[in-house]
Amino acid sequence: MNPFESFRLMSPFGMRIDPINKVPKFHRGVDLVTTPSSGPLYAFVAGEVIHAKEGVKGSGFGGYGFVVAIKDDKGYLHCYAHLSKAMVQVADKVLRGDKVGLQGSTGISTGAHLHYEIRKACSPSFGFTSTEIGVVEPTKYLQDYYAKEGLARVEIKDANAIIEKYLKPAWGTAKTREEKKEIGRLADELRVASGQERQNV
Ligand SMILES: [Zn+2]
Repeated sequence: MNPFESFRLMSPFGMRIDPINKVPKFHRGVDLVTTPSSGPLYAFVAGEVIHAKEGVKGSGFGGYGFVVAIKDDKGYLHCYAHLSKAMVQVADKVLRGDKVGLQGSTGISTGAHLHYEIRKACSPSFGFTSTEIGVVEPTKYLQDYYAKEGLARVEIKDANAIIEKYLKPAWGTAKTREEKKEIGRLADELRVASGQERQNV
């Protein structure tokens, strides 16, 4: 199963001739192209947004243009770089398949594409390392991630029983909008895990 099936793979992970400087350089992610050039991009895995703006020099995202970075439940950081626009904000919780931004060519880039990179850490400097030690090969990471996610699936009747018995009463007595929002999010996590549609968008 290829997690990047809907994209054209422009440049793989690993050693390559750098397209800008024409010297051998380690490519820390994959370069993927979708059409049209400012087409929507969706989260490959769920997580919390910890960066959603133009990367500044020295931050760990210098030259990456507009970057959305999402921390997954294992503490790995998924970086979506060179976007023309970010469509999430810091602290947002996203699910797999949520729209995170629009493809672009911001930062050091030779044309519209998505540079997708998975870092092993989120700090300091958003887990940036100049060598390959700080990143993982994205295709294998996603395949392993999805395989484990598959095992963690929930039966529809169990998911709905938890929602009816615990989450709906909790939602009814929640005092703040934040609490209600969080309960709604948990209910949707259960719905998605059991193959159902989300109800709170
Ligand atoms: Zn790249």
